[in-house]
Amino acid sequence: METGELSTPDLSTPLVVAIDGPSGSGKSSVSRAVARELGLAYLDTGAMYRAATWWCLEQGVALDDAERVADAVRAMPLVMGVDPAAPSVTVGGTDVGAAIRETAISAAVSSVATNLDVRAELRRLQRVAIDVERADGSFSQGRGIVAEGRDITTVVAPDADVRVLLTASEEARLARRALEVHGAADAASVAATRDQVLRRDADDSTVVQFQVAADGVVTVDSSHLDFDQTVQAVLAVVASRA
Ligand code: C5P
Repeated sequence: METGELSTPDLSTPLVVAIDGPSGSGKSSVSRAVARELGLAYLDTGAMYRAATWWCLEQGVALDDAERVADAVRAMPLVMGVDPAAPSVTVGGTDVGAAIRETAISAAVSSVATNLDVRAELRRLQRVAIDVERADGSFSQGRGIVAEGRDITTVVAPDADVRVLLTASEEARLARRALEVHGAADAASVAATRDQVLRRDADDSTVVQFQVAADGVVTVDSSHLDFDQTVQAVLAVVASRA
């Protein structure tokens, strides 16, 4: 992908880019593309909450037993692969990359993500992953990382060099998710996707705020942008801030 007329950000010191947004905003694919373009690592924090959900179900832990869920997550042998060309998620050596995208996990993840002890543990791991990428021996060789999720700009890395809230209208987000999950964006597919997008965001909003940009966070609205245009818009924010 071309960066067009954008000025190149200064990568002589580690760069941390934080991107938050609701479901269907395109933040995972856009963040990955931005990381690839800039030679940075990529951390999908939503995948960590999904892996935690998968692990609890696998271990037979009832998701409404907050204490056992938190204990299980603290013991979870999670390894996040941060190469944006091939991000991976393994738990105890099992590749769960496909399993964590199943509808059963999407439907259950909010109950794990609203457990405050789980959030404390995963935020700790996310800060460690970000700090590691500031060091020479890391995947990015100290160039830095793009970390995306719901609370990266506000809680996990409020000190990030660049902070972006990627939004899109409800209509655009439902249509994108329907296309992704059902392969079509007709009325029936959009209706079937509503729970995955709107109910999940409503549940998640009870513990994190990701609908409105916090102070110092730049909003990129992708409602009327295609994928490449959205990547370019985020790269432009990086170039202007970094
Ligand atoms: O981004 P994705 O849809 O994969 O995120 C899955 C879930 O993980 C979200 O619905 C939310 O419950 C949780 N999440 C979170 N905080 C983050 C990232 C994701 O609570 N930073």
